[in-house]
Amino acid sequence: MTIERSLVVIKPDGVQRGIIGELISRFEKRGLKIVGMKMLWVSRDFAEKHYPANMIPILGGKSLDNFKEFGIETDKTREELGESAREDLLKFTTESPVVAMVFEGVHAVKAIRKMVGPTSPHVAPAGTIRGDYAHLSMGHCTIEGMGGRNLIHASGNKEEAEKEIALWFSVDELFNYKRADEKHVIKE
Ligand code: UDP
Ligand code: MG
Repeated sequence: MTIERSLVVIKPDGVQRGIIGELISRFEKRGLKIVGMKMLWVSRDFAEKHYPANMIPILGGKSLDNFKEFGIETDKTREELGESAREDLLKFTTESPVVAMVFEGVHAVKAIRKMVGPTSPHVAPAGTIRGDYAHLSMGHCTIEGMGGRNLIHASGNKEEAEKEIALWFSVDELFNYKRADEKHVIKE
């Protein structure tokens, strides 16, 4: 019950910056076990499934907040802003290969989210991936129309993890095996 699986994707910024190894190694060192891993260049169709249209109002709300924060007037609706932010995100997600992984561990979903840090790198604490490897803000990305570059996607909760793992990996791409240190970092 305490052992979970979570999806982690190194986004195109992490791949193109050449820090795939460093990022993976953070999870490995923490004792999280890689049970699936592949590099792939996702299609527009696939990216639309990963970031479904129902995220538009939420993304639009965030974009509105971003504009407000910078005192920028806009006559666009929340829906319009959400659509263009999702478009930027889809473009970013498909601009180069990504590395997708499934990690297994105790409370893996929450433990990984903590390591990744909050969505916007400018407020992500040092010690988190987004706080150590980036400094831009989601507001900056909204204004520049560049898709939120924050290095990693990690499932937000257990339900999301199950759905996302089923989307990204087939059953025969996931493996059960023991790590040599497992009795110390997970259990006998
Ligand atoms: N995103 C964005 N602009 C925003 C908020 C989010 O471009 O104002 C992007 C960013 O890449 C983020 C992704 O949309 O990682 C999914 O958003 P979510 O709120 O699920 O953030 P996460 O779970 O990745 O922290
Ligand atoms: Mg999310």
